[in-house]
Amino acid sequence: MPSGFSLAALDLVFPALCSVCQASLGPGRRDPLCGRCWGAITRLGPPGCDACGLASPTRAPFDWSGATEHRWAGAAGPSEVGLSERGPAAPAHLCGACTIDRPEYDYARSAAVYEGALREALHAFKFSGKRALARPLGDLALEQCVASLPDGIDAAIAVPLARERERERGFNQAALLAQRIAGRLGVPTRPRWLARVRATRPQSDLTAAERRANVRGAFQASPQVAGRHVLVVDDVLTTGATLRECARALHDGGARRVGVLTVARVLHAAV
Ligand SMILES: [Zn+2]
Ligand SMILES: [Zn+2]
Repeated sequence: MPSGFSLAALDLVFPALCSVCQASLGPGRRDPLCGRCWGAITRLGPPGCDACGLASPTRAPFDWSGATEHRWAGAAGPSEVGLSERGPAAPAHLCGACTIDRPEYDYARSAAVYEGALREALHAFKFSGKRALARPLGDLALEQCVASLPDGIDAAIAVPLARERERERGFNQAALLAQRIAGRLGVPTRPRWLARVRATRPQSDLTAAERRANVRGAFQASPQVAGRHVLVVDDVLTTGATLRECARALHDGGARRVGVLTVARVLHAAV
């Protein structure tokens, strides 16, 4: 393990560069993202729909000034900023799409819009093996969404990757994000609670309806999810088909509540 002195010396000889733009990290850095790339990410504001979490883009990072009492700061008991556990009779504010077709998950939250520097960062994370990006990207998800996450989360789990794809890539990007997020939330990760039981085609070239059909029955939950409140973590929410199917499996397994947290979200007319 190099000492602080030798790390500083290494930094002078080989300055750390941003994983996205290759510039030096500079002020406001979130290693390995430079301050400029971090600042350029278009965040999403507070959720306008209790189910899908649809929100308006904003350039403002989450304002911490009013949220000092937080669960990861060691605060015990109910959080003042989180939603309380909702009973079945409690009213929910739903967007038009969720009124017609309510998702299988109970709530979804995403930190930022899938575009620009964030899309490039997620690409570098997934396809160029820049695993260190799990830290700033996981922090982005949590910092932007924590105020609207309900209390009482029992565990975080990643969307399981197909075994062959994980072997090719060497890691599951969602699992690295889930570990980072769970650590900061102070909850465990439970990778065995959700398994992928059959391979699916890549979703990218499919329509929304085809995506739903493609992932139908692809996941199975462990009986251990019974009665639990589970937070499913992924990198991007596109149509939500995969996350809905994960939630269906978890609810079929008896999960009491299933939430979704993603770093990015694709904004388009018909989600
Ligand atoms: Zn950069
Ligand atoms: Zn909605």
